[in-house]
Amino acid sequence: MTHPTPSPEVLDSYFTPAVEVTIAGLRDRTGGPFGATLVNPEGEIVVAVGNTVIKDTDISGHAEMVAVREACKKLNTLDLSGHVMYATCEPCPMCVAVMMWAGITTCYYASTHEDAGDNGFSDVHLRKYLDGSDTSTLDMIHLDSGREDCASIWTEFQALNG
Ligand SMILES: [Zn+2]
Repeated sequence: MTHPTPSPEVLDSYFTPAVEVTIAGLRDRTGGPFGATLVNPEGEIVVAVGNTVIKDTDISGHAEMVAVREACKKLNTLDLSGHVMYATCEPCPMCVAVMMWAGITTCYYASTHEDAGDNGFSDVHLRKYLDGSDTSTLDMIHLDSGREDCASIWTEFQALNG
């Protein structure tokens, strides 16, 4: 899908709130050096947020994750298709995933994951795990028998939704 890049002025209007809230979070020591703005299909800002990892003691409080969470609550929807993410830094795989779960298909970012790594925020272990080049960081073990209780959830789901 192609998406026309907004004008420099429009990009400024989207990135500036994210940068400002992120720097405020750094100064308050409530969040890391990452921000994001989510824009609706009409080009209006829905939320502009910074990383909340420290404030919320939440390892998943990345800016893009927070933006999706807050936007879904604000708009009372799980579907953010047509919305566009503007991230101060290249999103990590977790945030790529949450954007995709929410139906977001366009994300602009400025700094790269290499820049983040140079500042002590490397996500290379996630990237290597997902591309299969180093899966030693997480043992994913499939129990393929003996868990009928887990399988019963599907039966219950089908009964409730059949
Ligand atoms: Zn992330």
